[in-house]
Amino acid sequence: MVRSELIKILEEHGIPDAGFEVSCMLEQITGDRYAVSLSAEQKQQISAMIQRRISGEPLQYILGEWEFYGMRLFVGKGVLIPRPDTEILADTVLNWSKGKSGLKILDLCTGSGCIALALKRHLPDAAVTAVDISEKALAYARKNAEYHQLAVDFHHADVLDKNFAKQFQAYDIIVSNPPYLTGQEMTELQTEVKHEPAIALFGGSAEDGTYFYRKITSIWKDALRPGGLLAYEIGWKQGLRVSELMQSNAFDKIQVIQDYEHRDRVAAGEKI
Ligand code: GLN
Repeated sequence: MVRSELIKILEEHGIPDAGFEVSCMLEQITGDRYAVSLSAEQKQQISAMIQRRISGEPLQYILGEWEFYGMRLFVGKGVLIPRPDTEILADTVLNWSKGKSGLKILDLCTGSGCIALALKRHLPDAAVTAVDISEKALAYARKNAEYHQLAVDFHHADVLDKNFAKQFQAYDIIVSNPPYLTGQEMTELQTEVKHEPAIALFGGSAEDGTYFYRKITSIWKDALRPGGLLAYEIGWKQGLRVSELMQSNAFDKIQVIQDYEHRDRVAAGEKI
């Protein structure tokens, strides 16, 4: 099958960036984004990929990898795909860290490890610890750390477990992209997102999706040193609520930062 036919199939199934997606698939199979002559085996491989894609599976799971902060990360069923918006959270932490050394950093709900690994890569002398409740996600995070030869200390635990949190003290930075979608948003997910783990998306029973911010802020603030940074990725309607919540938990210098679409995406503040 030639490139234009493959693109046509994806387009007929309503996939918007069909040309780009076909290029990604061709690159993975042949090493050439614009490959024209495929072996019989390669043809079989690409049609299997196209089939999975038109069944609604995300491109990133089909490729088994995606880029985050200039790094190749392995992803697949059971782990949230790193989003470009999350790079703004990494930027926020890196900006705050300028001129500081030997930082102790904790990444809660690490998923693929994307944030922890981006931070360790750009702050090589930092001690980075990362926590997730999902063994499946952690398997990807560990594989990603290994691939990039980055030393991150991973823990399999529930971030809502107060006893677990007690072991952690005097951290300079706590960063988290917790689940934050509302019940309503969970019913309106794109087909592709439905293939991702609900546990990484659904922000709990509170109507505004802020359950994890409430819990994490109260449970983990004792792990942060005075003057330390708490930085969250947030949903675009949660800026006010999360900044108020941080304020009432004795944080100041609170900032809400917008994403590439000019929507609130990060809330960060310092512990008083
Ligand atoms: N940004 C993700 C989405 O819109 C949600 C990620 C999360 O809940 N942390 O699909």
